[in-house]
Amino acid sequence: AISVRDLRKSYGRNEVLRGVTFDVAPSEVLCVLGPSGSGKSTMLKCLNLLETPTAGSVVVGGVTLTDPGVDIDAARTRIGMVFQHFNLFGHLSALDNVTLALRHVKKVSKAEAEEIGHSQLKRLGLGHVARHRPANLSGGQQQRVAIARSLAMRPEVMLFDEATSALDPELVKEVLAVMRELAGSGMTMVVVTHEIGFAREAADRVIFMDEGLIAEDGDARELLDHPPGTRFREFLAQVL
Ligand code: ATP
Ligand code: MG
Repeated sequence: AISVRDLRKSYGRNEVLRGVTFDVAPSEVLCVLGPSGSGKSTMLKCLNLLETPTAGSVVVGGVTLTDPGVDIDAARTRIGMVFQHFNLFGHLSALDNVTLALRHVKKVSKAEAEEIGHSQLKRLGLGHVARHRPANLSGGQQQRVAIARSLAMRPEVMLFDEATSALDPELVKEVLAVMRELAGSGMTMVVVTHEIGFAREAADRVIFMDEGLIAEDGDARELLDHPPGTRFREFLAQVL
């Protein structure tokens, strides 16, 4: 579902991604680990062209995003992205946050959008707060609304960038549970996280990024239980 070849990204003279190559198969869950500044967020943003790669190619669902003529907006509707900060609209209810893009980007009717919205909110355990505004929801609930908003667009792949790191510890679990359920449902996912437990249980594969390169790439359990490289071992010792 995702194919990345020799992806490079520079900011001025700072080459942040120095040739990143990997594939994600349909229904595969890939966790991306790595120290701060190693290029994880930049890599993820290149997967939906929030950042323009300096070189290399990115193919998602058969569409080459790095082709000059690509319809970026159309391509983006098939790629869901969830960030650390949920960026919900404060003046809209949870339901309206979820249905907004359905109605205005996908041009779905109000009734149909609300049906989809309700079913996504229910799926994520939020049926009872559909009419609440974000300010009246916990951080974990807000993040689940953000996930529901992405899922409502029926994306082919979901990208998560440290989706739980802004949450209070007791709220992390409920968001990870939703992400686990999603992984189990066959969604193709790329998950940047420091939650090693999640990576070990829910991911098929792990890549470890270091200074703009993939330093390790392998089966999640094998890699985490028997970390091969010194840098990776040191990193794990710090986050565990
Ligand atoms: P963290 O774990 O802290 O989120 P990261 O692995 O996600 O780190 P990136 O955010 O991808 O790392 O940043 C990689 C490098 O690129 C850093 O040195 C950062 O300063 C630089 N960088 C990121 N975004 C920009 C930008 N818009 N302009 C200039 N430099 C940037
Ligand atoms: Mg980051």
